[in-house]
Parts: sequence; C-alpha cells; structure tokens
Amino acid sequence: MVTSYIGLGSNLGDREKNINSAIERLKHLKDTRVSGVSSIIETKPVGGPPQEKFLNAVVKIQTKLSPKQLLRELQDIELQLGRIRSVKNGPRTIDLDILFYGNKRIKEKDLIIPHPRIKERDFVLIPLGEIAPQIVKRLSNEDNKKDKYSKAVNKKSKAG
Ligand code: ADP
Ligand code: MG
Repeated sequence: MVTSYIGLGSNLGDREKNINSAIERLKHLKDTRVSGVSSIIETKPVGGPPQEKFLNAVVKIQTKLSPKQLLRELQDIELQLGRIRSVKNGPRTIDLDILFYGNKRIKEKDLIIPHPRIKERDFVLIPLGEIAPQIVKRLSNEDNKKDKYSKAVNKKSKAG
C-alpha cells in the first residue's frame, strides 16, 4: 500500500455535492482505502477566465493502484460526475489531482508527481496542512519563500 494525497476542486453546479460525491467514489475505488479527509474550504479561482469561487479539499488514501491506474480512476470519476474539459483552467464540476504518491517523483507528459501546483496554491496547502502538517512543514523548510506557507502552517497551530 502506498499513501497518496488527492486534491479535489469544484466551481460548477452544486459544488459541495460534487466534492462529496467524489469522496464517496474514492471510498469505493478498488484496492484503495480513504484514511483522511480535510474540511472543505472556499477559494478564489487562480488563472483562467473570470469564474466562480471553488470549493477545495484534500483526501488521503492508501492504495495498491499504480500512479497511472490511479490517474485513470480519477479521470473516470471526473467523467462520471459530468466534467467536460473546455477552456484551460476554466470552470469545472470536479477536478481530481494526484498531489503525492508516496515519495515517488514522476515527470511524464500526462502525469507529474508531486503535482506542480501544490506549492503555489493556498487551495491545496491549507487543506493539505490540515491532514498532513508534516508535509507542509517539510515543503516550507525546503523553500526560500516561506511566506506562502504561513496560512497553512498557522492554521494547523491554531487547530492544535
Ligand atoms: P488541471 O491542471 O487544472 O488539473 P486538468 O484536470 O484538465 O487540468 O488536467 C490536465 C492534465 O493534467 C490531465 O490530462 C492529466 O494527464 C495531467 N496531469 C499531470 N499530472 C497530474 C497529476 N498529478 N494529477 C492529475 N492530473 C495530472
Ligand atoms: Mg486536474
């Protein structure tokens, strides 16, 4: 079993329902167990056309699926929940990204792990900091620009 973190985002339709349905489907993935779920936070869209705010969450899983298999399963869930890919960074009913897959580093055309957007984005760092504070701390220690982690790290210390 490998520990992996999945980032979820939705800014189209019933956002909360979309996030919760995706979490339910993650719970039913073969050879996979959900072992942590962050709270759902609302965030401003970053990049892309003007669009509604997002709801975001991060889920921790233990899985026997390979990174490629996992990506395919996530894309299946995106389709089941009615995601249509139109504009880049445009509105989406659901977006499921593999943030981490154990300590594995992958750089392929269709799969980059750790996910390249993690460090720049509060919408990942804040929920990730909630269920994996040690990872956010490590990212912050590795990085010169520590400011961007402050919200994720402080939030953790407030929560205890
Ligand atoms: P976004 O970058 O906003 O998440 P999409 O969800 O449309 O955009 O994903 C575009 C492509 O990103 C997918 O076709 C997928 O192959 C690729 N991709 C690369 N790395 C990852 C990853 N770690 N998790 C999910 N998708 C990834
Ligand atoms: Mg995606």
